[in-house]
Amino acid sequence: MRNKKILLTEKEIPSHYYNIVADMPNKPLPPLDPQTRQPIGPEKLAPLFPQELIKQEVTQERFVEIPDEVKDVYLKWRPTPMYRAYDLEKKLDTPAKIYYKYEGVSPTGSHKPNTAVAQAYYNKQEGVKRISTETGAGQWGSALAFAAKQFGIDLDVYMVNISYHHKPYRKVMMNSFGANVYPSPSNRTESGRNILAENPDAAGSLGIAISEAVEMAAKDEKTNYALGSVLNHVLMHQTVIGEEAIKQMEKAGDLPDIVVGPFGGGSNFSGISFPFLRKNITEGTNIRCIASEPTSCPKLTKGEFRYDFGDTAGYTPLLPMYTLGHNFIPAPLHAGGLRYHGAGVVVSQLLKDRLIEATAHDQIEAFEAGLLFAQTEGIIPAPETNHAIATAIREAERCKREGKSETILIHLCGHGYFDLKSYEDYHAGKLIRHEVTDEEIKASLSQLDVPVPG
Ligand SMILES: *Cc1c(COP(=O)(O)O)cnc(C)c1O
Repeated sequence: MRNKKILLTEKEIPSHYYNIVADMPNKPLPPLDPQTRQPIGPEKLAPLFPQELIKQEVTQERFVEIPDEVKDVYLKWRPTPMYRAYDLEKKLDTPAKIYYKYEGVSPTGSHKPNTAVAQAYYNKQEGVKRISTETGAGQWGSALAFAAKQFGIDLDVYMVNISYHHKPYRKVMMNSFGANVYPSPSNRTESGRNILAENPDAAGSLGIAISEAVEMAAKDEKTNYALGSVLNHVLMHQTVIGEEAIKQMEKAGDLPDIVVGPFGGGSNFSGISFPFLRKNITEGTNIRCIASEPTSCPKLTKGEFRYDFGDTAGYTPLLPMYTLGHNFIPAPLHAGGLRYHGAGVVVSQLLKDRLIEATAHDQIEAFEAGLLFAQTEGIIPAPETNHAIATAIREAERCKREGKSETILIHLCGHGYFDLKSYEDYHAGKLIRHEVTDEEIKASLSQLDVPVPG
C-alpha cells in the first residue's frame, strides 16, 4: 500500500508565523501618504487596525508567536492534510510527483480563516466591538463571519454586487454565522452612492467594496476594518500553511522543486511559499515558487511595479506594488477572488527581485484543469484554485517531455462547493476565454497620477 495522505498530529501545529521581510535581500519600499507623497508611519493606520496588527505590519522580526487562543480555534481544522495526487499523475502520464496541501477542510472551505481568526482575536484583545470588511466571491466574508463570532465581534460585510447575486449561498453562510451582508456599491457610504449615481446597476469590484468598508471604519471610532489579503500581517498569518507543508514533505521523504498557488492579492500563495523561500534564502535550496493568475486580471505578468492605491476611491495609503491601476475593473470572470487590481507589497518586491515567478491562464484552461483534478482526485476545487492546478499540469507535461521526475506541490487553497454556478456555466459553454489587451492595461495605468519608484 502506498501512502496517499501525509498527516500531522495536533502537537505539530506551528507555534509561530513566519515573517519573510526579515530575510528579504531588498526590503519593501515604504507606503506613502496620498496627500504629501511622503513615507507614512504606522500610526496612520490606527483608526482602522488594532495596535498588535499594526506592529505585525511593520515588524522585522523573523517569527511572531501564535497566541494560544488562536491556536485553540485553529485546532478545529488544523493541521490540514497533504495528499499525493497519484491518480492525477497517472492520468497525465507524467514522471513528475504531484502533491497537494488542502485548506478546503477549514470551517468555510478555504485558507482565509487562518488570518480571519488571528485578526478577530487581536481586535477582541483591544476592545473592538464591530468590524467592517469587503468580500468578492464570499470566501473572505465567510471566514471573517466565522472568526468574528468565535470572539463575539459584530461584522458588516460589503459584498461585490455581481457575486452577491451569483453566490447567494455565501451570503446565507455569512448570515448563519451572524454577519450583516450588503451588496456593494451600496447606499450606506459616500463612495458607494457616488458610483450608484453614475450606474445604478454597477457590478461592483473589490476596490469599490474596500472603499466602502474603509469609509465605515474611518467614520466610526468603535468600528475597525479588516482586510483578507495583500497586507504584510495577512500574508504572515497564512504561513502556518507552508510551515506545516515543510514538515509534511519531510515526512514524505521529499522536497518540492515547484510550489504553485493561485494569486489574487497574494495571501494563499505567500502562505504556502514563504517558508519554502526561507529555505531558498537561508539553506540554498532552489525551489521554484510560481504564482498563478488569470489572463483577465494579470497584474503580475502584465502590470507595472509602481505606487498605487489599494482601493478605487483612493482612501488607502499609496503602496509600492505590481498593479493594473486602481480604476481597472476586470471582466466578470468566475474566479472572483482573483479580480483585484494589485498585488501585496512583499510579494511584489519578491517578484521584482525574481525570487518568485508568475504565470497566467485563461479561465477555460483553468476550469479544464480543475475538472481533471476533480475527476481524478475527487475534490471540486474553487475556481481560483483551478489556476494553480493549470500551472501544475503545464509543469507536469513539461516534465514528461523532458523525462524529468520533479516534485510539484499544489496549494489546493479552497473547494468549489459554493461555486457550482461557475461549473454549471462552464458545462453550458457560457465561459469565455478572456484576455485583457495591452492597450486596456496601458489606458488604465496612464490614469495614475502617482510617483513611479526609481
Ligand atoms: C481569496 C481566495 C483567493 C485569492 O486571494 P489570495 O489572497 O491571493 O489568496 C484564492 N483562492 C481562494 C480559494 C480564495 O478564497
